[in-house]
Amino acid sequence: MRRVSIFGATGSIGQNTIDLIAREPEAYDVVALTGGQNIAQLAQDAIRLRADLAVTADETRLDELRQALAGSDVEAAAGREALLEAADRPAEWVMSAIVGAAGLEPGLRALQRGATLALANKESMVCAGQLMLRTAQAHGGRLLPVDSEHSAVFQALIGEDLDAVERVIITASGGAFRDWPIEDLPKATPAQAATHPNWDMGQRITIDSASMFNKALELIETKEFFGLSADKIETVVHPESMIHALVGFNDGALMAHVGPPDMRHAIGFALHHPERKPLPVERLDLVKLGQMTFRPACEIRWPALRLAREVMEAGGLCGAAFNAAKEVALDGFIDGAISFTRMTEVVEEVLSRVSPRLRHIDDDFGLDMVVEADHLARVEAGNIIAG
Ligand code: NDP
Ligand code: MG
Repeated sequence: MRRVSIFGATGSIGQNTIDLIAREPEAYDVVALTGGQNIAQLAQDAIRLRADLAVTADETRLDELRQALAGSDVEAAAGREALLEAADRPAEWVMSAIVGAAGLEPGLRALQRGATLALANKESMVCAGQLMLRTAQAHGGRLLPVDSEHSAVFQALIGEDLDAVERVIITASGGAFRDWPIEDLPKATPAQAATHPNWDMGQRITIDSASMFNKALELIETKEFFGLSADKIETVVHPESMIHALVGFNDGALMAHVGPPDMRHAIGFALHHPERKPLPVERLDLVKLGQMTFRPACEIRWPALRLAREVMEAGGLCGAAFNAAKEVALDGFIDGAISFTRMTEVVEEVLSRVSPRLRHIDDDFGLDMVVEADHLARVEAGNIIAG
């Protein structure tokens, strides 16, 4: 049996991961499941999957979790420290699906003991890509991408020489507002932004899809994950979300990864790697699909894409600041403190203030420096939003 842990088990990626694991109970020994506020779901899955341990990140909710687990053999724990200790437990395969920079440290801890880390938490690569790669290498850990675009690139690169790659094209659905008049965007509400045309995902990533901050994070993730220079990474709007990414080679070949928008493909690929095994995803009917369309990714409609390019060029710890400022701006938008379009202005302002200090930091930075850059950007973003 393979020992597995799922961080962010109660979320959208976490639940899709559980869906796959629960289909083969004889194949997996579940070590730890972690969640945040959704105690009922966490306890229910931990009992059903016979996990050793269930952890809520919220230390005030330990009693509630204990009650929900009463009568079972599942151990309960709560708080940040418990979350990190859960990452030290000996699971060979760990799903990193906490949302935000909060997912970085548990993933690092799993890599430090040589685990295979299935990485949905793109923020880890954006904030600390070099640290993630270095940690995996130093301890015999393995990083596998779960973001659908990066799984697609990874699959297109199997057996290929990275030097032969001319470009990588990351597709974008365009999110909730791709057809809105640009002048209406300042009036967009969080509820409107949180509806995705194709994918069923958590609230934060769905709003990030509407602003294209999600795609901005993914462009940076591509650079970090595959070690490509920024000028080789492109994006195009593809409203049908059937092609997840394309890799262009120096002989003109363009390899596309095509499939219906179902995260269980990328999760299952990472779960079974290096093998391919049957997965319960819909098989694409090309005739029924009829056509696939593409549009330019306009940086006036989606200025987050321009910022991503600036962050990739700046390097250092600008990615950590970019992500942190984005998280604070997103909270501000969800709470009604700032408008939809103000989010990018806040992030741009934070970058202009902090990047002179962060851009020259060498790739051998440690976690403490990432935490510092993250904190600095959060403080600046908070100040800007407060006016
Ligand atoms: P969700 O919001 O659905 O789930 C997030 C998970 O993290 C939940 O289990 C939540 O607990 C937990 N959580 C939230 N805050 C904290 C915290 N501070 N500390 C510890 N745990 C926390 O997110 P998604 O599943 O949509 O996304 C997860 C990650 O995967 C993100 O990085 C996202 O960008 C990435 N991703 C997601 C895709 C998708 O299809 N959803 C596609 C590609 C990437 P609870 O809900 O119990 O409060
Ligand atoms: Mg993605």
